[in-house]
Amino acid sequence: MSQTLQAIRGMNDILPPEAERWEAFEELVRDWLFSYGYRPIRMPLVEPTPLFARAIGAVTDIVEKEMYSFTDALNGEALTLRPEGTASCVRAVLQHNLLYDGPKRLWYMGPMFRHERPQKGRYRQFHQVGVEALGLAGPDIDAEQILMCARLWDDLGLHGITLEINSLGQPEERARHRADLIGYLEKHFDALDDDGKRRLHTNPLRILDTKNPAMQALVEAAPKLIDYLGEDSLKHFEGVQQLLKDAGLPYRINPRLVRGLDYYNLTVFEWVTDRLGAQGTVCAGGRYDGLIEQLGGKRAPACGFALGIERLMALLEAEGELPASPAPDVYVVHQGEGAVRLAFRAAEALRDVGCAVLTHMGGGSFKSQMKRADASGAQLAVLIGEDEVQKNEVSLKPLRVAIEQWRVPIANLAEAVSDWLYGRDEAVNED
Ligand code: ATP
Ligand code: MG
Repeated sequence: MSQTLQAIRGMNDILPPEAERWEAFEELVRDWLFSYGYRPIRMPLVEPTPLFARAIGAVTDIVEKEMYSFTDALNGEALTLRPEGTASCVRAVLQHNLLYDGPKRLWYMGPMFRHERPQKGRYRQFHQVGVEALGLAGPDIDAEQILMCARLWDDLGLHGITLEINSLGQPEERARHRADLIGYLEKHFDALDDDGKRRLHTNPLRILDTKNPAMQALVEAAPKLIDYLGEDSLKHFEGVQQLLKDAGLPYRINPRLVRGLDYYNLTVFEWVTDRLGAQGTVCAGGRYDGLIEQLGGKRAPACGFALGIERLMALLEAEGELPASPAPDVYVVHQGEGAVRLAFRAAEALRDVGCAVLTHMGGGSFKSQMKRADASGAQLAVLIGEDEVQKNEVSLKPLRVAIEQWRVPIANLAEAVSDWLYGRDEAVNED
């Protein structure tokens, strides 16, 4: 016997009822983004490889070792499955000159691809909601993006997600810090782990972000970027903090928060939880004022963030408030000659008035069909046997309350069902 094919490691099928929870989440996310004035954009999943090398930085984890890159067999083009959305979004904005009439607030949602070691909360195909504000320079938009995350946690009924912020300053400030940091780390070269040694001259800032317990004391005592920030950078950072304080939003300044992508400057932030083990960051973002120019556009400020949907869904599973999976309103049971035709008429008439209807298929006794009807979660069964067909009627049988079934002419079915389904809701509400 041939073996069943399996999905690629680290790439998950999302099945019902989980997929229904994803849909409920997505619906809520759309409303939330709309309420802050963000508009949707959809980019391709595949982009030219140089886009990411240029945008994310050649010596970042993503570009060094996590990208799904391949050569188009037909024309030799170097292509990559997108590992994140910001680079594609900025590429699209520039390609279509979207900033010609002022700032834009944009969002997207979908799969991203990174060749990482799969583990809980870390997959090779994962999903993000990406939120980007382009053309806005002030600390106000940074603060608004942070506040909007807090509102989403609230809307989702999630608690215990805490905010960490930092400022990466401007490139000149980072360069001075970097020189001192390299000097400091060189003095302690023997205490660095392999990653640290490798990154010492390529991406020393990233060493500060190490998760290696043996290096904590070393990075704790390293020169801090915040001490190198000039007046303007500090003012921006204080501006963000002021608005967070005004909103009563608690935060922690984490001087070692540096983010894994090269394009950030000034404000960076992460939302973290201790309920997901090692993969505790559910949302991360910050300002990237240099990226648009770096990708060939006219210099324009920007900031954004991305939510990791799998990690949020894992939290929601444990404590969130997403609705349970939906059941149909009506299940249509039918048996005998001609019954299927009446069943189809009945089901379509019910859908005309907005009911969700599951029509039984595949035959079987009334008893076995009623079992299916019950298992479907429907409120009501429509029963059609030979007698009903002859009289052009159907029987209605409530499935969740002990009420005898009754008959209605097919012409009155829609009205009878909506009365029973929705009229009953009203009656309950009045109590
Ligand atoms: P990490 O430090 O966990 O690798 P990152 O800095 O690489 O995260 P970003 O590029 O900032 O992550 O992506 C934003 C969010 O997307 C993360 O905070 C996380 O919630 C989610 N995310 C990133 N990589 C993965 C992955 N491989 N699987 C699942 N979610 C991910
Ligand atoms: Mg990563």
